[in-house]
Amino acid sequence: MSIIDKIISNIVPHDCLGCGYEGGIICTVCVANFKLVPERCYRCHRVSPAGRTCIVCRRQSHLYAVRAATVYDGLAKDMVWRLKFHGVQEAAAMMARQMASFGFDESAVLVPVPTATRRVRNRGYDQATLLARELGRQTGLPRADYVRRSGQTHQVGASRRERQRQLQAAFRIKPGSTTRDQHIILIDDVLTTGATLEAAARALKQAGVRRVSAIVFAQA
Ligand SMILES: [Zn+2]
Ligand SMILES: [Zn+2]
Repeated sequence: MSIIDKIISNIVPHDCLGCGYEGGIICTVCVANFKLVPERCYRCHRVSPAGRTCIVCRRQSHLYAVRAATVYDGLAKDMVWRLKFHGVQEAAAMMARQMASFGFDESAVLVPVPTATRRVRNRGYDQATLLARELGRQTGLPRADYVRRSGQTHQVGASRRERQRQLQAAFRIKPGSTTRDQHIILIDDVLTTGATLEAAARALKQAGVRRVSAIVFAQA
């Protein structure tokens, strides 16, 4: 997509991605059709209030709770695609509105999970950062870019164990971050296996963070 296309797609008003209704990237009727994710443990899908990691999974997880605003299909997929590849700010605002519907710990800090640096360089922005910024605006919670990501992490042909090791090494905490005893809420667009969130959570825990939760827009 050229710079000109990028600028135009951010200025020209969008029609609803679902039904074509004029005026916004998604209309209120189509928003209401987003499939909600039940309150459950994100690892084993056992029912769990507020998406808390269940007592069994907690032993292998650094995440206290994980919430997803919607299921990753249909319109939700379109929204993520717009955000990722077209940089539509309006998509970020709308997705954040869905994420803002959860109750928040008022002492928490929002921290985006950064995308691998090379991909951001190609695209010019980071979708998790856009989401965290919008969510911060809507909830009034502070936002901090404590988590940094180094280099390319995905290696074709690497074993599962090796990939895990690479992912773990990919995250580091920004020097000077005031993380001690804080409750951090990681922000990302899509949750698949949770390995990325876990790796970022682990780095934060090692830096003295008391509790790490996560809120994502969609769960695959
Ligand atoms: Zn619509
Ligand atoms: Zn579980």
